[in-house]
Amino acid sequence: MADIAIIGGGAAGAAVFGELLRRADHGGTVHWITGGAAPGRGVAYATADDRHLLNVRAAGMGLFAEQKGEFLQHASRHLGHAQGSDFLPRRLFGEFIEAQLRTRIAEAHARGRRFQVHDTRAAAVRRQPQAGYHVELENGAALATDAAVLAIGALAPRPLKTVSMQVLDSGAYILDPWNAPEPPRPPRRVLVIGTGLTAVDTLISTAARWPKAELIAVSRHGLLPFRHPAAPVAPYPYQDDLNAALLACDGAAPMTRLVREAIAGVAGTDWRAVVDGMRPINATLWQGFTLAQRRQFLRHLRWVWEASRHRTAPASYEIVQELIESGRLQVQGARVLAVDGSGPIAVTLRSRTTQLTSTIEVDRVIQATGLDTAVAYARDPLLAQLLGAGLATPDPLQLGLAATPDGQLLDAHGRAQPGLYGIGSLLRGNLWECTAMPEIRIAASRLAQALTEDGETRSEEAAAN
Ligand SMILES: Cc1cc2nc3c(=O)[nH]c(=O)nc-3n(C[C@H](O)[C@H](O)[C@H](O)COP(=O)(O)OP(=O)(O)OC[C@H]3O[C@@H](n4cnc5c(N)ncnc54)[C@H](O)[C@@H]3O)c2cc1C
Repeated sequence: MADIAIIGGGAAGAAVFGELLRRADHGGTVHWITGGAAPGRGVAYATADDRHLLNVRAAGMGLFAEQKGEFLQHASRHLGHAQGSDFLPRRLFGEFIEAQLRTRIAEAHARGRRFQVHDTRAAAVRRQPQAGYHVELENGAALATDAAVLAIGALAPRPLKTVSMQVLDSGAYILDPWNAPEPPRPPRRVLVIGTGLTAVDTLISTAARWPKAELIAVSRHGLLPFRHPAAPVAPYPYQDDLNAALLACDGAAPMTRLVREAIAGVAGTDWRAVVDGMRPINATLWQGFTLAQRRQFLRHLRWVWEASRHRTAPASYEIVQELIESGRLQVQGARVLAVDGSGPIAVTLRSRTTQLTSTIEVDRVIQATGLDTAVAYARDPLLAQLLGAGLATPDPLQLGLAATPDGQLLDAHGRAQPGLYGIGSLLRGNLWECTAMPEIRIAASRLAQALTEDGETRSEEAAAN
């Protein structure tokens, strides 16, 4: 008997739910607590804007580990034609997730598999006196489960410390780039804080929404994501040897040297093939770093890693380049020192290159700084409860929750919590690269396997007693 609660209604929660529905049940119930929004879509796949593209080729996307071309088939049926190398609208992947869930649910019904979908949020998770967890829901219900999976994605965005209360109250500072309300008048000048993938989509939507608005994007390094090549590139021929050598390195500096040498060493090598070829070992490399080496990586290499590893679809890249070339968009490397005033908002910046300070006036600021996983500062009630009860503890570098390599959460004393797991962004401290579907679907399959084995052990113990 194993009752399992999956908390979080995004793609990661959907993947774990679907994996568990498919597996043998031992008489237990799978509870999926979706948070209330469209199940399975989460932040990434809820967009209705078809200019927001997947940053993984269609052939690489899927919800379950074993899937090979199912998303491509789904896309071809809906678009008339699609190729594995295409970067398709994220909306389409959201529809695919929903369709996959419908099928899994119908099959589970037919097999008599017990499950419940709760259209509400989890408010608290408490350890039961003997074993297992007590999960309290915001609608007042409570579930007694043997295991719980935290799949709550990244944290709700927090305003930068440099933003004044007056600006936050003005309604012209947008904290959630995916839900920007209509202002009373079209803005003439918009500042986007951030230059990563979220910022790229924000710039594309903003440019289309207010065709006359001037756009400025700012981040510490002012580096936009690199682009994927239009067609897939050939794999680097010596990737296995390179990966073995990287796994034997002590720290990020010798790794960077090896990667540079590999790219320069074989004529015609596309650096993106080398970076992508490291994907299977990234988590192991990260786990091999000491805390000091992780800190060093975050300080010196994170910005270039993020831009190189999390690349943009060619079509998105081209829109942004056209905006730059037409003079509508300026991208600056600068630190945001202050955001103050109202109508217009005054933003004080210190340039990365000159260290000079300047103030610009804008009508609207959109914070698009990407994933926040610093749980110690979160206002999320569930995380606050988990941390307060000592059931979970922040990763020392504020990259999420501390966990074992297989995703079991550590309590305040560093002990692994039996049956309490995490998946997705909140495990960045543990795995570093764990936020994209190719990693999430493998993690979901492994987690479902571990939860099923735990359930089998419990059933055998119960039978023996
Ligand atoms: C804009 C964007 C674009 C992306 N594009 C791609 C891409 O093209 N390809 C790719 O592979 N990856 C992409 N990613 C990475 C993406 O993070 C993953 O693909 C995946 O969507 C992550 O899903 P998740 O379930 O972990 O998190 P989320 O999508 O954040 O979902 C978490 C869900 O949990 C819910 N929740 C939170 N707290 C509670 C609670 N207490 N109780 C119940 N529910 C709760 C939230 O409301 C939310 O619905 C993108 C990410 C973003 C943000």
